[in-house]
Amino acid sequence: MSRATQSVATKVSSVVLLIIFVTLALSLSALILAIQAYSYGNDVVAAYLILLGFVGVASSTYVLFQTRKRIMRLRIETQPITTTIECKKCGFKSVREFQRGDYIFKEVETCQKCNEKMLITAIYREVREKGKEAFPY
Ligand SMILES: [Zn+2]
Repeated sequence: MSRATQSVATKVSSVVLLIIFVTLALSLSALILAIQAYSYGNDVVAAYLILLGFVGVASSTYVLFQTRKRIMRLRIETQPITTTIECKKCGFKSVREFQRGDYIFKEVETCQKCNEKMLITAIYREVREKGKEAFPY
């Protein structure tokens, strides 16, 4: 369930990010055009473009921060399920994200070291302690 919501969230956020960056690019080009219009003595057009550019930059930055916050919150809420795979022969351990159909003692891919079949030895949800999460702001 958490994996599904997470992938939907990433899909939505990538679309939002695309829109934000397009808006940001358009706003910046509006500002560049404003400088050009100003140098041609077209003050009214320049003022309009500056206004447009600033509104665009401001709104896209605002949406970007809002989306970031939401994604951060979502990441904290959905803790990933981890699968530990162990080689019985040489003890090589590998950890990967839980995949559908994983169960304990299931034989999975061969060992990177000795080509022996590896077994899933543990499936667990990673529990992150509150307060330990590093916030970038
Ligand atoms: Zn091995």
